[in-house]
Amino acid sequence: MSPRGTTDPSCLFCKIIKKEINANIVDEGDDFVAFRDINPQAPTHVLVIPKEHIRNIAEADDANHLGSLFRTACTVAQREKLNGGFRLVVNNGDDGGQTVHHLHIHILGGRSMTWPPG
Ligand code: AMP
Ligand code: ZN
Repeated sequence: MSPRGTTDPSCLFCKIIKKEINANIVDEGDDFVAFRDINPQAPTHVLVIPKEHIRNIAEADDANHLGSLFRTACTVAQREKLNGGFRLVVNNGDDGGQTVHHLHIHILGGRSMTWPPG
């Protein structure tokens, strides 16, 4: 894995981390930022991203780091009061529907989810 702190100057989410682009940040820690999705697909739609530029979950080979990110997503979901449940989504690669190539966990909640996803 790349060393901690790796960024890609052309990456949208790296720019949000560096505050070069505005985002509605709901939480931030040493290793992550959580912010509201600009095009929400549910009443609550928050993205949790590592501060390190990792392209996707398939390239995230530090299990502890990845586990922490998921733990953080659950903590953010609790803070967002998604007590009735929520969905975590990680799109990977083109067929997975990934459009921003910086690893992110979608937190979706505030409505009843359907299955299967499209
Ligand atoms: P994905 O399709 O899984 O790569 O998800 C990328 C997400 O980033 C989409 O849900 C977009 O709506 C969201 N997004 C794109 N640009 C921004 C932005 N500037 N601020 C917040 N969310 C964004
Ligand atoms: Zn990035």
